[in-house]
Amino acid sequence: MKTAFLTIDWETPQSFLRDLRKNNVSFEILRHELMLSTHLLLDLFSEKNITATFFISFSEYKLYGKNFIEKLVKLISDSGHEIGLHTHPEMIYPEVIFLKDLDYDLKVDFVKQGVEFLSNITGKKVTSHRAGAYGISNECLGILEQNGILIDSSFYHGHVNCNLDFDESFKNKIFKNGNLIEVPVTTIHYKPKIHHRILNKIVHAKTDINSINMNYWDKIIESQSENSFINLFLHSYSLTNYSQSSISYRKENIDNFNKILDIMFKNKFKFKKLNNILNKKIIYLTLVLQTLKIFSYANIFKRVRKLF
Ligand SMILES: [Zn+2]
Repeated sequence: MKTAFLTIDWETPQSFLRDLRKNNVSFEILRHELMLSTHLLLDLFSEKNITATFFISFSEYKLYGKNFIEKLVKLISDSGHEIGLHTHPEMIYPEVIFLKDLDYDLKVDFVKQGVEFLSNITGKKVTSHRAGAYGISNECLGILEQNGILIDSSFYHGHVNCNLDFDESFKNKIFKNGNLIEVPVTTIHYKPKIHHRILNKIVHAKTDINSINMNYWDKIIESQSENSFINLFLHSYSLTNYSQSSISYRKENIDNFNKILDIMFKNKFKFKKLNNILNKKIIYLTLVLQTLKIFSYANIFKRVRKLF
């Protein structure tokens, strides 16, 4: 079976927000963007009969108030989607952009606060996490585990912000590290533009509508083997246009995202939430696959075990 995990970083566009705040311009319009894009995504997923994992940048309650965030998160959860934790410390600790850069005690506080905030809204356990901008280190993994997180999806091999100590052989593999299951961001190498081809320049990109040119999606998805998975990456704001004065649908991206989903359906991908991995049957299957595969990896004696 081919599996697609549609994972959405649910947040305000970070660099745009930073610019507005730096120039003392009101960022209130971004509250409307968050509302518009949430409804847009929920309608689209319901139409396509897809369930997804939303990584919620909970700290944005500092910008928009707790009530506002709670209502939207409840709506997403009640629509059948998974609510995961997304960690952008900046809203609470202004000088700190990445989770990995908080002092140990503040990391613990911040993760605990996020898990409690989200689980109080949904009445469900929060078991999945992605660090904002992949700004994670090995130290963070233990803290996540202590706070009930069972799945992390922050590993982006080769990304400058990502300080997880896994080598290239873990790229695009689901694996278990202690009790934590890692579902990496799917990345590919390709030559998108003519001058890249001429210069033999290869671009390393994630499977995100904003990162890969539309002409390449067919080829990427068709080349996936049986039992493979794609972590299909999206930002909540990827399907809207936003400026200081207006918010609107981004028609071209909406059409293109629909096309990507259709290509995935055509290639028999089944959409799952990350926490479906915790389903006993899947765990059993992955453990069987792990037993079969483990002999082929040099990391057999490491604490880290690849699942598939
Ligand atoms: Zn983010």
